[in-house]
Amino acid sequence: MSDADELFLKIIAREIPAEIVHETETTLAFRDIAPQARVHVLVVPKTRYRNLAELAAADPQLLADVVATCATVAEKEGITGSGYRVVFNTDSDAGQTVFHVHAHVLGGEPLAHFGG
Ligand code: 5GP
Repeated sequence: MSDADELFLKIIAREIPAEIVHETETTLAFRDIAPQARVHVLVVPKTRYRNLAELAAADPQLLADVVATCATVAEKEGITGSGYRVVFNTDSDAGQTVFHVHAHVLGGEPLAHFGG
């Protein structure tokens, strides 16, 4: 594991500061250091898995916890009425840079549309 991949474990351990938005027994939500929207929060499981596929295969309940925390974050941030996006960048084509699976919760303003 590289230093970059340990980054979120250090945030979970409070060894690196972050603006924490919500915490559960199994997950942590904190603001992205380089926000891509007015609201941009990262949600991580406290146990590290490399990416979405590894988490889904190893611990589906923990994946459900991560997704539930995303919904809680949207409520706490007041963006459930206007809408929001949840993204798991997974490996190189998606530009994943930190290999500790994380969901991006984005909203608070209109987001560029993609898809059909
Ligand atoms: P990825 O590109 O892997 O999907 O997302 C990694 C995210 O972590 C990026 O959006 C980046 O801005 C964020 N990030 C990188 N370093 C830090 C940090 O030290 N603190 C916080 N809060 N976010 C970080």
